[in-house]
Amino acid sequence: MEQTLSIIKPDAVAKGVIGKIIDRFESNGLRIATMKKVQLSRADAEAFYAVHKERSFFGELVDFMISGPVVIIVLEGEEAMAKNRELMGATNPKEAAAGTIRADFAQSIDANAVHGSDSLENAAIEIAFFFAQREIN
Ligand code: ADP
Ligand code: MG
Repeated sequence: MEQTLSIIKPDAVAKGVIGKIIDRFESNGLRIATMKKVQLSRADAEAFYAVHKERSFFGELVDFMISGPVVIIVLEGEEAMAKNRELMGATNPKEAAAGTIRADFAQSIDANAVHGSDSLENAAIEIAFFFAQREIN
């Protein structure tokens, strides 16, 4: 059983599609181990996305991630990391496969509805960034 981190980004929260996105997870064998809705601080967003700090879009990414509340979710299931990435679709919604979360709910490469951990190692780091072990069940 794997765990991975998902974030429903401010664009999707503002559009009112939290439930529709969670339904994609639950309908595809991923369980919600824990979740919370929070407003990230600039420091939170900069630290979470520190791997991207040299990228040209880092400033925009941080501004976007703090533009409104997000929902942070620990997903659990068989091959949860890869399954979540598959359900998300490509980073650019214009390139995302039909039926994926980003194809259905995202508008642009920056406002792209969801984050998902990209490896098991990063999943463990990202889960620990947002949750204490006692909060996960
Ligand atoms: P993913 O979220 O699919 O794992 P990355 O880890 O490469 O994608 O990028 C992290 C986030 O940074 C993306 O989800 C997107 O919001 C933003 N991003 C990536 N590339 C660009 C870009 N070229 N322009 C603007 N924002 C971008
Ligand atoms: Mg990524």
